[in-house]
Amino acid sequence: MRSLPRTAMALAISICAIPAAAQPEFLTRGMPYAAFDALPTIDLAVPNGTLRIGFAEGTTALPRQDIIDWIARSARTVSIYFGRFPVRSARVLVVPSEGSGVRGGQAFGYRGAAIRVRLGRSTDRPALEHDWIMVHEMIHLALPNLDDRHNWLSEGMATYVESIARVQAGELTDETIWAAFMRDMPQGLPRADDRGLDHTPTWGRTYWGGAIFCLLVDIEIRKRSDNRYGLQDALRGILALGGTHEQHWPIERIIEVADRAVGQTALADLYEQHRATPVPVDLSALWKGLGIRLVGRTVTFDADAPLARIRESLTRPPSARP
Ligand SMILES: [Zn+2]
Repeated sequence: MRSLPRTAMALAISICAIPAAAQPEFLTRGMPYAAFDALPTIDLAVPNGTLRIGFAEGTTALPRQDIIDWIARSARTVSIYFGRFPVRSARVLVVPSEGSGVRGGQAFGYRGAAIRVRLGRSTDRPALEHDWIMVHEMIHLALPNLDDRHNWLSEGMATYVESIARVQAGELTDETIWAAFMRDMPQGLPRADDRGLDHTPTWGRTYWGGAIFCLLVDIEIRKRSDNRYGLQDALRGILALGGTHEQHWPIERIIEVADRAVGQTALADLYEQHRATPVPVDLSALWKGLGIRLVGRTVTFDADAPLARIRESLTRPPSARP
């Protein structure tokens, strides 16, 4: 079980406000590349690449090997989703901080792919086993940098794919993530003064509005391809053309490349609908169509619902597809 949504998203938002504290050279606003490069590092092989892991000064209750294992496990999850780790090489900076658990993370790309996480000194093993932040930050490495007004696509993609990827990797169940989506996605619906995803940079629209958009795109690609392709194939198409976080692409190029990978225009069509217009998505009807029912806190699935096959495919690992 993970204690995801509100807490989780509050943490995700905190990535933008890492305060300068005991290790000011490691807690700069941007990635402290120079300070990192002066640290001793440990190389970790990941599918198609290498992570260079560095620890800022400070102790942690957990042995370093547990922390490295957590990073390796997260890299495996992301690699299953994308078919490989998104970049050939990335720096991973672990900054010991007050408290317990993963206290926030950030992904960078402008001088080479990099991730910085603050890790509470008293973090225990279960906290790392249930962590979602490292996976979320690694997913950011798989999408080019975008202009700020499209942050909803970066954050929505990382939010949505993190859940799907962790089911595909066997870390979470379908029931867990659908219950979380049903509980949290209403926070991403447009409110009264909404002007569409490109023009409404609120927390709810950025994270959960973006996640709803990604779910709709995933379903639409599957509808148009007789369930042969999904968002996962479209995103892999971006990576195949070198579209990583180390690049800056206009959103139009991301959309064109992703759509071309699945031979259709679902992403372009949905972007056109949602970018400057508040689209009131009927989530209740969507859950019903997918065959998802929430009774109390328990999710059950209806295999005869119109979109049941598509719902099953969304979380199925690519290797297990018929
Ligand atoms: Zn993020």
